[in-house]
Amino acid sequence: MSRSSQKRPIGAKKFVILHHSKCYRDSFHYRICADAEIEHLESDDLSTQHPNSIGIELVGDFDHDPVPSAQLQALKDLLLELKLRYPAIQVGAHRQIRGDRKTSCPGRRFPMRELREWAATHLIDQRDDILREVIESQYRP
Ligand SMILES: [Zn+2]
Repeated sequence: MSRSSQKRPIGAKKFVILHHSKCYRDSFHYRICADAEIEHLESDDLSTQHPNSIGIELVGDFDHDPVPSAQLQALKDLLLELKLRYPAIQVGAHRQIRGDRKTSCPGRRFPMRELREWAATHLIDQRDDILREVIESQYRP
């Protein structure tokens, strides 16, 4: 942990880091099971591994298996929720973290490129739709 990151206010979440079950790390904030059930394991404010980030484990071995579509949809639902809560948040793969031991996490078959494209387009659209509805429900004459 760098000194500058310790000075940031608690709750200034910047990254969602994705992992799969074959990761050498443990203690994540969320776990998404193969049947799409989401478990909230730790408070978002608890810094588990990387400061200002939220760790999500997807149960499975995505070096070998594809991600079930229901599990991927559950991840997208959770990412939308987190994007509403932490507007600056970006989604990334564990393997993108500099300084961590070399890894393929969250797996070679994990559709990271598709997910990042979705996060840059559809996720923003969905968030904006929700915010518009909230504003309209509060200010309609
Ligand atoms: Zn990992």
